[in-house]
Amino acid sequence: MTTKYLFFTGGVVSSVGKGVTAAATGLLLRERGFKVAVQKLDPYINVDPGTMSPYQHGEVYVLDDGAETDLDLGHYERFIDIRLSRSSNFTSGQVYAEIIGKERRGDFLGGTIQVIPHITNEIKRRVASIGKETNADVVLVEVGGTVGDIESQPFLEVLRQLRNEVGRENVFFIHVTWLPYIKATGEIKTKPTQHSVAALRSIGISPNMIIARSDYPVDGEICDKIALFCDVEKEAVVPMITSDVLYEVPLLLEQAGVDDYLVEKLNMKSTRKADMQPWQELVEHVRQPKSTVKIALVGKYVELQDAYMSVREALKHAALANDVEVEIGWVHAADLEKDKGWDVVQNADGILVPGGFGSRGIEGKILAARYAREKKVPYLGLCLGMQVMCIDFARGVLNHEDANSSEFDRSSEYPVIDLMLDQRSITDMGGTMRLGLYPCELKKGSKAAKAYGVEKVEERHRHRFEFNNHYKTDFEKGGMVFSGMSPDGKLVEIVEIEDHPFMVASQFHPEFLSRPMKPHPLFVGFMKAARDGRK
Ligand code: GLN
Repeated sequence: MTTKYLFFTGGVVSSVGKGVTAAATGLLLRERGFKVAVQKLDPYINVDPGTMSPYQHGEVYVLDDGAETDLDLGHYERFIDIRLSRSSNFTSGQVYAEIIGKERRGDFLGGTIQVIPHITNEIKRRVASIGKETNADVVLVEVGGTVGDIESQPFLEVLRQLRNEVGRENVFFIHVTWLPYIKATGEIKTKPTQHSVAALRSIGISPNMIIARSDYPVDGEICDKIALFCDVEKEAVVPMITSDVLYEVPLLLEQAGVDDYLVEKLNMKSTRKADMQPWQELVEHVRQPKSTVKIALVGKYVELQDAYMSVREALKHAALANDVEVEIGWVHAADLEKDKGWDVVQNADGILVPGGFGSRGIEGKILAARYAREKKVPYLGLCLGMQVMCIDFARGVLNHEDANSSEFDRSSEYPVIDLMLDQRSITDMGGTMRLGLYPCELKKGSKAAKAYGVEKVEERHRHRFEFNNHYKTDFEKGGMVFSGMSPDGKLVEIVEIEDHPFMVASQFHPEFLSRPMKPHPLFVGFMKAARDGRK
């Protein structure tokens, strides 16, 4: 079969759930028996989101190969249950860097370098290569931003060109828009959708399908109107009402006939219907009344929950596996330093300290780890959450009040977390951390090994600092178990406290490998301990 391309664009406003829509569509097509590849194109100039503040961008999602990517890749991986690679996400910054690099080497032999064709050709090369690289039947490409943005124009121009180059019969445009609701008149409005389609048409693209997101029910008349004004077939106007359960989106799309329509219009040979039974059951399970487990998430960017997208999802997956509902109490680590927010921590059945950078709120996180240790409240530390657990242990158990990470205090006399030699000479911030998949051997009989049920695992990393092995023996004497180590024994990957119901923390980020149907073992173990120890 010729490779088919599905292009997702967004209209009206950002954050309409284009990524989730693309991910859910990818799942449906995989279920129909096709090999799918996914790619996200980000129009900003940063080379990757790795150096961006989570306030600006939400979570930085990390892949096996160490690529630091947009959080939509997390949706793709969780829904479709695939492992993506670096070529599944690129930015304008990467494209410009490549072209400017070539220009400096003299590759263009005196030519003038222009957006069209030089930048667009490089974008095209990258879009075209993912299908070949993965040997996919269908490539789903999501363009970040909203139609009408100046910066996404080169991307849209490429999609327009590709439609002619790979053949119109092999290309399908899905435009995801938002229908605002006017409370005073009780009406849903289609005008912004019409305008965004007009903007898309002005650059030569007519959408084949419109997925219209709304917080309120959308009737047939509204759909007819969209079909008429936006020049798409009636069956290709898909209203999608906000669901309280994220994982219901593929079911909604399937019920709306999206996969049937795609298979027919793109003339794809599908041998089977999508088996959505497991997803149906998952959603039903989510909706069943269950008792609640309260988890205090002590972080730095808690106002913007997107900054902890994968952690939140992993907690939900683990809760479901334990047949409970998770209620996350978002706690500002810096508040704890000012004696605020402690009620949430004290009421919680479990405490989670996620990853983070920079010193703001560090002492608050250390206090949260101390509380969990002293009160024997289940604790899960992720990356920085492991580092603060070690700092607290050094201060509170080993009596080294000066213990710290050299990230926060360069003059600490007891730097339990420190830079490895190979990190010391690095001056560039972007893409230079320990990134991606690394193996970890588990210590027999440890809580980590019991949770995983295997001896060796591979997990995704994103950090610069490591546990300082100089202090390992002291820690062991004090009752800390190094339950996960790199195979050469040099890097600490998991620590846990022996005399505690569940105080386990990893240097890696387990949240990136949790899937709705395959919850991550460390999260499941943590949630079970929190459930069993409920107040
Ligand atoms: N700031 C810490 C480091 O670089 C932790 C990083 C993280 O939590 N992702 O090692």
